[in-house]
Amino acid sequence: MDERNTKSNPLDSIKERFDSRSGNGSPHHPDRRNMSRKMHFSVWYFILVFLFLSWLHDLWIFKQNVTTVPYSSFKTMISEGKVERVTIGEDTISGILKTAEDGKRYFVTVRLQDPELISFLDRHGVTYAGEKQNKIINAILSWVVPLILFILIWSYILGRMGGPQGVLSFGKARAKIYAEKDVGITFNDVAGIDEAKRELQEVVEYLKNPEKFARLGAKIPKGVLLVGAPGTGKTLLARAVAGEAGVPFFSMSGSDFVEMFVGVGAARVRDLFAQAKANAPCIIFIDELDALGKARGINPLGSHDEREQTLNQLLVEMDGFDSSSGVIIMAATNRPEILDPALLRPGRFDRHVAIDRPDIKGREAILRIHVKKIKLGDDVDLKKIAAMTPGFVGADLANLVNEAALLAARRDADRVEMKDFQEALDRIIGGLEKRNRAINPREREIVAYHEAGHAIVAMALPHTDPVNKISIIPRGIGALGYTQQMPTEDRYLLTRRELIDRVTVLMGGRVAEEIVFGDVSTGAMNDLQRATDIIKRMITEYGMSEKLGPLTFRREPRSPLLQTELTSSLFTEREFSERTAELIDSEMKTLIESIHDRTKDILQRSREWLDRMAKELLEKEVLEGEELERFASEFKTFWKAINDEEKLNEQR
Ligand code: ADP
Ligand code: MG
Ligand code: ZN
Repeated sequence: MDERNTKSNPLDSIKERFDSRSGNGSPHHPDRRNMSRKMHFSVWYFILVFLFLSWLHDLWIFKQNVTTVPYSSFKTMISEGKVERVTIGEDTISGILKTAEDGKRYFVTVRLQDPELISFLDRHGVTYAGEKQNKIINAILSWVVPLILFILIWSYILGRMGGPQGVLSFGKARAKIYAEKDVGITFNDVAGIDEAKRELQEVVEYLKNPEKFARLGAKIPKGVLLVGAPGTGKTLLARAVAGEAGVPFFSMSGSDFVEMFVGVGAARVRDLFAQAKANAPCIIFIDELDALGKARGINPLGSHDEREQTLNQLLVEMDGFDSSSGVIIMAATNRPEILDPALLRPGRFDRHVAIDRPDIKGREAILRIHVKKIKLGDDVDLKKIAAMTPGFVGADLANLVNEAALLAARRDADRVEMKDFQEALDRIIGGLEKRNRAINPREREIVAYHEAGHAIVAMALPHTDPVNKISIIPRGIGALGYTQQMPTEDRYLLTRRELIDRVTVLMGGRVAEEIVFGDVSTGAMNDLQRATDIIKRMITEYGMSEKLGPLTFRREPRSPLLQTELTSSLFTEREFSERTAELIDSEMKTLIESIHDRTKDILQRSREWLDRMAKELLEKEVLEGEELERFASEFKTFWKAINDEEKLNEQR
């Protein structure tokens, strides 16, 4: 349940995101500022393009009216008296004709070494002038303009690739800093984690009214670290604190800081704190802190410079101001054990707020919040749903409500009813129903007896949760059927008897197959795994074996930092002898065998009920509600009767 991510987070979509790309922009109106900058840019762009075009135009007109003539024709034209005036340049001679020829009045020719030219012109009465060629203009025309053109094209392409800041300015904070002025979420939107709320109430007080604390000289914690399993509402709670206090909320995820280029993350941290200080009082929230704050130097693949630098910068910034500046830093993580100890020392994230999975009351309260948005049928009992969902966190419950609403919509109902919730829960736990998957009748019978076995054993034993639903409709990938037990309360401690009863129920499926068909199937693998797991822990961890005594044989790895799948097997030592290991194995075997015998005994004595339930299951596929309750109470009367009889027999 832990790893399930919640895809739909309605709260995220309401977030008003100011994407402030310019790091030094005022965080209030970063977008406006950005706009004016963009405008400037495009005005220049237009002027340049305009100049370039008019220059091209002149050139074009000029070319249209000008003929290039050989030097000899030039001399002929002069001697024929057609030329009005000429301009003698260094390399060329240009001139104007008295009348246009072929629509062209201007001509140019390449100047040759001709010492006679001046006297020749004098002789034919042509006005002439020398020309001092403007080298600069020439130079501009010949290569500055193409250069500008090139730059323009280049910047256009870059702009396409990611804004005017492009590749070259990656060091400038491109940080997406969401300053939400009004998060619109209050403590009323958070339920089931009242203790955490109470802890944070103080922070809210402080943000609302800092003078009150300053007057007494009390220091409010600088950093608050929210610790809890995924989906327990850490992000939600942080936003609620901002909403409750009515202060801006600067939020970034730890992974936002970790970039490809060394130094970028550190720049972002600096930027974030600078913006926050300018906006005090406010909250800086760093989500998924572990992405950034992993302890330095535990990376097995060598050090990670960028992350270390970013982390160092964060530490420096946190030291650089005190909480009287009105900035409170909050962070969330679900893996506090891997955080760098420097982050957790006093003066940094010194206040830790643990967010637990909600208990039954909490789950009901969370459900109540989420069903506000949907239309509920009269038969929906939130208390019952809360009872059916032990271990669910806020995100799971939000998801459950949404699934139920979707199912109701699918059947065109105008209210979401209890059966939608039940179906949604089945889906979430077991996967989709596959009603039309063809199962051969023999397999179906095996499944029916298997599930009936679980159910009968559960009904016969005193220390088990009541059976809520039995189904032989295949679901998800593996499950061919299931028996759902509903705990009546959350349990934190289990006694040896209760554990043994649990294992007995788990064995019920396989033993029923054994008794009825004289053979066992692969269907019980999951049951056996869970049974083995419980038994192993009873013996090696909870000290529940008589032969081994109240000892525990499993040790947590010394350093929590090393607690990964890979390392835990390498670094945990076995602190017991070979003989003890053998004893553990034999104890496990003895225990499971005695439980097996017990299960067999129960099922053999209630064989007719097993048949009855299997038959009903084959007919109806699902047993639940009143039907199941009636069956259970009838069975219990029977069971009590034969047990009483036995006791009487024993006494005789
Ligand atoms: P986390 O950050 O701890 O992983 P989130 O705060 O993102 O979890 O929670 C995801 C969603 O689950 C929230 O948006 C909210 O809809 C729901 N949720 C989680 N916890 C609670 C709660 N205590 N009360 C109400 N809703 C909750
Ligand atoms: Mg979160
Ligand atoms: Zn089973």
